[in-house]
Amino acid sequence: ASKNRLTANAVTSTCCYCGVGCGVVVNKEKNGTITVQGNTEHPVNKGMLCSKGMNLHYTVNDKSDRLLYPQMRYNKSMPMQQVSWDDALNRTAAVFKTFIEKYGPDSVAFYASGQCLTEEYYVVNKLIKGFIGSNNIDTNSRLCMSSAVAAYKIALGEDTVPLCYDDIELADCFYIMGGNPAWCHPILWRRVEAHKAANPDTKIIVVDPRVTDTCAIADLHLQINPGTDITLNHAIGRLLIENGDIDIDFINNHAEGFEQYSTIVFQKTLTESAQICGLTESSIRLAATYIGEAKGFITMWTMGLNQSAIGVNKNLSLINLNLITGHVGKPGSGPLSLTGQPNAMGGREVGGLSNLLPAHRVLSNPLHREEVQKFWGGKPIQPKPGLTATEMFEALNDGRLKAIWIMCTNPLTSLPNVRLAEEALKKAKFVVVQEISNKPETLAYADVILPAAAWAEKEGTMTNSERRISYLNKVIDPPGEALPDAEIICRFARKMGYKGFDFENAAAIYAEHVKLTAKTNIDISGLNYDILKEQKTVQWPYKKKSPTKGTQRLFTDKIFYTPSAKAVISPVPDTLTSEAPDDEYPFILTTGRIRDQWHTMSKTGKVNKLNQHYKQAFLEIHPDDAAILQLNEGDITVITSRRGEVRVQAKLTEQIKRGVVFLPMHWGKILNNDLNRANNITSDMLDPVSKEPDFKYCAVNLKKYKKP
Ligand code: SF4
Repeated sequence: ASKNRLTANAVTSTCCYCGVGCGVVVNKEKNGTITVQGNTEHPVNKGMLCSKGMNLHYTVNDKSDRLLYPQMRYNKSMPMQQVSWDDALNRTAAVFKTFIEKYGPDSVAFYASGQCLTEEYYVVNKLIKGFIGSNNIDTNSRLCMSSAVAAYKIALGEDTVPLCYDDIELADCFYIMGGNPAWCHPILWRRVEAHKAANPDTKIIVVDPRVTDTCAIADLHLQINPGTDITLNHAIGRLLIENGDIDIDFINNHAEGFEQYSTIVFQKTLTESAQICGLTESSIRLAATYIGEAKGFITMWTMGLNQSAIGVNKNLSLINLNLITGHVGKPGSGPLSLTGQPNAMGGREVGGLSNLLPAHRVLSNPLHREEVQKFWGGKPIQPKPGLTATEMFEALNDGRLKAIWIMCTNPLTSLPNVRLAEEALKKAKFVVVQEISNKPETLAYADVILPAAAWAEKEGTMTNSERRISYLNKVIDPPGEALPDAEIICRFARKMGYKGFDFENAAAIYAEHVKLTAKTNIDISGLNYDILKEQKTVQWPYKKKSPTKGTQRLFTDKIFYTPSAKAVISPVPDTLTSEAPDDEYPFILTTGRIRDQWHTMSKTGKVNKLNQHYKQAFLEIHPDDAAILQLNEGDITVITSRRGEVRVQAKLTEQIKRGVVFLPMHWGKILNNDLNRANNITSDMLDPVSKEPDFKYCAVNLKKYKKP
């Protein structure tokens, strides 16, 4: 990439969409608008940006949908009125205090987002766990990475990605399962493409029920039946053992669980596994050969594994392939989960989920609770995990939860079986919505609306998929009376009468977070804003007296963070618990992203260029299935499940397996029409460990729409 154009007001920042974490240079132009370029000096993207990143400035420059001032209504039948920040926060504090006194601290909850900055996460987590006295904080990261988090913790003893992006250029075999990085993590995928182009012997195996753009450079595409990932991984594990392509030294000295694993992977013959997965035996053999011959082996995955009723087990079955081959803790090797959101990892660093404490401390550990309580100087921290994302809405429905504060997320498009969430917000006694845009459907249910500053209008930090922390500069002021999210939470905490929320600035919040990480596995005690501004980005851990500036790779010494210091090979069962198709609902629905939209489109949907890729929601269906249903290209199709209905145009394609259909997840309610919304019909079944929903598998029926 050519060198960046720099005005006198140019600053560096990080793209606020996916977890790849591309660096950008933001120029403030003379007319007050901003322009954005890929940062040519950034180690992640070296100047490249994908379609979403290239159009970041449009979403900031276009203020037409921005919330400009706090609004409030005194009862549900009244219209919203503009009020001062003091009025909005005084009333909210009074309502929260009343509920907490009358029904206890667990009657209130905060639902946040993997798009929040680390500092924002830190203060809201501190507020509810340390001062309100409840663990009812969860984020939309629960819908995204929680299965991977749980699996890392079991396998490696810590929620951590052990390798770095520079390992891509050192690997000679990639196994991508349940992800379409060519569309969803494009800049990282450009690096894989460039590496493959320069080293044609590099093997790329893609596992996906659909033929995606990621398959374009694949040596092998395993188009499996949805939900059969564990069966496939076990079959490959078995072949690796049979072929002698495992790392005996690593297994004997640095891992445990291999015996039980080898028993379970031999329970099915290759013929049985191939039949279950809908693959040929020879294709599975070829995958095992590629992996067995690899000197550097990277597994990559995302929502296809995570968003499942057996998401944790799917993750573990994949990480097992790295462990039995010893491909972890060495250059060019390891498991690399691709994070959907820009700062899901930062949120977990501060403990911003209902079952976590700061710096990955464990909520159930009394010493950890005491340590954090002493540091914060607040109330004793409760041992019981709080409500997770979907549980919060269940609790609103049955009346256990009275008030919910929704910040930086759009649950009425993104939650599974979303009509339950709508019912929940109708029943909620008090709803606070902290938002940048006037578009999200949640605003219709709000009692108080708090206008927030957007990307480039506030400073803070984020951590990407390879543990890389970056500092985001503030470039312009937020419009109207909008405030940074951390400032809003701190003002509210002070209204509640809590001490410890009078931070001078974001740097002071960060400094407090950093102190809490000392001597933990994610120790960043050597870090502060000055260092981050000077070095631009660093990878954690970044210890105080560390001779290195951050940590590229973990476990190079083969000492893991488990109690035994060994990696854990898990003998997971391969039983699928998802809603099975039957005569009434004979098709399997899977959902996902398209190339040019982000989440629920409240930002990318503002950009004309990005809306050209797909102008509306659609249903992908195989032509043979369409023929039986007498569906033609473009026909409006009614898709029903046990939970609801969607009506979108059919898109006939041989790139999807027969019996499987695909809906994009981005569209919500448009002008009172909510029939584009995939989550009207998705399953709210959860993984029992991670509590992540089963977005990728449910039973549906299809028919051509006929005018009544
Ligand atoms: Fe932004 Fe992700 Fe695209 Fe990079 S790959 S520009 S982080 S959306």
